[in-house]
Amino acid sequence: MVDNKQNPALLQNHMRHIQFLYPSLSKPSKIIVTCHQKPDGDAMGSTLGLYHFLIQLGHEVTVISPTNWADFLNWMPGVENVLNFDYDKTACEALIEEAAIIFCLDFNVLSRTKHLEHPIKKANCVKVLIDHHQQPDEATFDYGISNTAKSSTCEMVYDFIMGSEWSHLINQSVARCLYTGVMTDTGSFRFPATGAETHRMVAHLKDLGLEHSPIHSQIFDSSEENRLRFIGFVLLKRMEILKPLQVGLMYVYAEDVKEFKLKTGDTEGLVNYLLGMKGIEMGAIVIDREDERKWSFRSKTNFDVNTFAREHFQGGGHFNAAGGRSDDSVDITVEKFKQILKNYEDQLK
Ligand code: 5GP
Ligand code: MN
Repeated sequence: MVDNKQNPALLQNHMRHIQFLYPSLSKPSKIIVTCHQKPDGDAMGSTLGLYHFLIQLGHEVTVISPTNWADFLNWMPGVENVLNFDYDKTACEALIEEAAIIFCLDFNVLSRTKHLEHPIKKANCVKVLIDHHQQPDEATFDYGISNTAKSSTCEMVYDFIMGSEWSHLINQSVARCLYTGVMTDTGSFRFPATGAETHRMVAHLKDLGLEHSPIHSQIFDSSEENRLRFIGFVLLKRMEILKPLQVGLMYVYAEDVKEFKLKTGDTEGLVNYLLGMKGIEMGAIVIDREDERKWSFRSKTNFDVNTFAREHFQGGGHFNAAGGRSDDSVDITVEKFKQILKNYEDQLK
């Protein structure tokens, strides 16, 4: 281990830069890698990408997801070994207790891991953050890196591997997993955080033999018929355009979820249809989940949905893409949303 006593950051009890972690990876140990609940392409891609890297160093690595995930991620190499905390609580808790290091990827606050929050909090091991969301809770972590300018956590895991002495360990499994998160979190390389370095990373993965087309197919061309019909239904019956405010809104009731037999992941990307409309600055969707109403917010340009979600819907995320929640019914939370929007008229135009 590096002597961090010389590191002034440590004296202030701050998260130490992740580069100080490299020495402790040279000896095999028990490692947990986890991410936010309902992992998306970036969460699953970064955890599995890191997993495939760490196992080559001889570590005993377990990926734990706080919940289940979308079927369109089930092709990913290593996904068959991922534990779902909701199903395997006891086994997961035992593994967390024994772990020397826990990597927390693609989330900024522990509450994003749902029921995993408490076991991680009380774990007496080294906690590491790799994330690109706004306002991370740095006090929770011993080591880490938070960079909101980065396209994705997958790009950050790539940087972490490339910055080590083990960059030769990027094999096809690592490459496929990391490509997935970069591609999904950048909206297929269109969002502003897609930098030259993002494209250089992809070029490097291509040089190593990555086939990208099959990954796009697995993610985007694998819907069931009911999902397409559901999208049509929402566009027709569950969408409101608040024209003067330049806001598009969608809402999905629990009975819609039931009627269309929706599975985890079936509503992903729906909110983006709203931004496809001329004259819309902000898109919002609320979905009635079993235990909460889950909001997603998106903006096209200058409207800060991270702050909006944080201030009004117990959430957060990025400047142009964030999420939140409410304990109210769909109708009540939608009404509150509309009332709140009135205070943002100037910012939305
Ligand atoms: P989505 O709308 O796709 O669920 O999430 C958009 C972005 O905001 C993602 O990067 C996601 O991780 C983040 N996010 C979603 N919900 C929450 C939340 O409740 N709290 C925080 N801090 N971030 C969230
Ligand atoms: Mn991400």
